[in-house]
Amino acid sequence: MAHFPTSTGHPAWRATVLTLFPEMFPGPLGLSLVGQALAAGLWSLDARQIRAFGLGRHRSVDDHPAGGGAGMVLRADVLAAAIDDARQSNPNAPLIYLSPRGEPLRQPLVRELAAGPGAVLLAGRFEGVDQRVIEARGLREISIGDYVLAGGELAAMVLIEACVRLIPGVLGAVESIAHESFETGQLEHPHYTKPREWEGRTIPDVLLSGDHKKIAEWRREQAEKLTRARRPDLLK
Ligand code: SAM
Repeated sequence: MAHFPTSTGHPAWRATVLTLFPEMFPGPLGLSLVGQALAAGLWSLDARQIRAFGLGRHRSVDDHPAGGGAGMVLRADVLAAAIDDARQSNPNAPLIYLSPRGEPLRQPLVRELAAGPGAVLLAGRFEGVDQRVIEARGLREISIGDYVLAGGELAAMVLIEACVRLIPGVLGAVESIAHESFETGQLEHPHYTKPREWEGRTIPDVLLSGDHKKIAEWRREQAEKLTRARRPDLLK
């Protein structure tokens, strides 16, 4: 299917999710600014049931691991049929398998994916998927962190939300993205708002000074201090 230009002049970012639980979508992606952008057509979401490509009367999608062991593995032939079908409606999007073994999802990768036409996202379940489909279809394995989820659906949602909020027109103020954690290679500075004093705690004077140069300097210092203390790896 073609990418239709949206009100912002950009083609809609298209997410196709292959899952055994399409009813999980849009879920949180249907709410707030990301949900409003979905309703406005700035991006689209198509959650497809892998079982539609299942085999036999029971639409079977999995089988025991070759070599033995616990759990079940999603079959290569079933997944390939689902992927090939999804590709027809989202032809230029990268094929991604959400996997704890994948490359970590970080902001530069989010930016790269958000700038593209969208993504076809395979959400695994059970022990995972047959290795041959990963290789045969050139799936890019992406992890959302060093922990194991029960399925790839929440991981797909994390990736989608991180990308969609970068699409022009989705967030109100573009500036709010520019200074965010990871965009500058550092964690973001602390924020404050009203009331001026709360439980005996005050807002740092510099933020109330009206001196924008000093405020920018303070924020830079705070960001660096915080990054050094919590994530020194980002400064390397
Ligand atoms: N046996 C696999 C392993 O040890 O690498 C874990 C399988 S996990 C129980 C089932 C599915 O959840 C995976 O196929 C994957 O799609 C998804 N998943 C789990 N943890 C994830 C993570 N950190 N990032 C992305 N996807 C994840």
